Amino acid sequence: MSYDPDNIFAKILRGDLPCHKIYEDDNTLAFLDIMPRAKGHTLVIPKSPAQNMLDVRLEDFTTLMATVHKLTPMIQQALDADGILLQQLNGDAAGQLVYHIHFHIVPRFEGVPLKHHGNQFQQEDILKKNAQILTDYIARQS
Ligand code: AMP
Repeated sequence: MSYDPDNIFAKILRGDLPCHKIYEDDNTLAFLDIMPRAKGHTLVIPKSPAQNMLDVRLEDFTTLMATVHKLTPMIQQALDADGILLQQLNGDAAGQLVYHIHFHIVPRFEGVPLKHHGNQFQQEDILKKNAQILTDYIARQS
């Protein structure tokens, strides 16, 4: 299977689909998962095409990880999370749903169970509010 330029995240990158963006630079984009496993569940993607870890170029992976490294502590602080789960799935057997490589940054809160993966849409107004909290915090740190 080769990279599908019409996958959902490619459409978001082209501006053909909306997203709740929280961060963008020359190489990467970060936005909220619309079926979050927890409050503030963020996806970080490279702007270059790759399906997953099995075909991503090292330089694209490196810039992707730089953004994950930058955003993870900011998301933790902005939401006062007790922990952060990083998740990255490769292939159908691993549960990968969207074939444009991405990292999940999932804030964890003591006593709050993790929701199922890609299972339940979050209300638009809640996503909007959480994106604003994160965007404001990131802007203050920059
Ligand atoms: P994965 O199994 O790692 O490929 O997960 C893909 C993730 O993308 C899931 O957590 C979905 O909830 C999420 N997702 C699917 N469509 C969208 C979308 N349009 N905007 C934001 N997140 C999405």
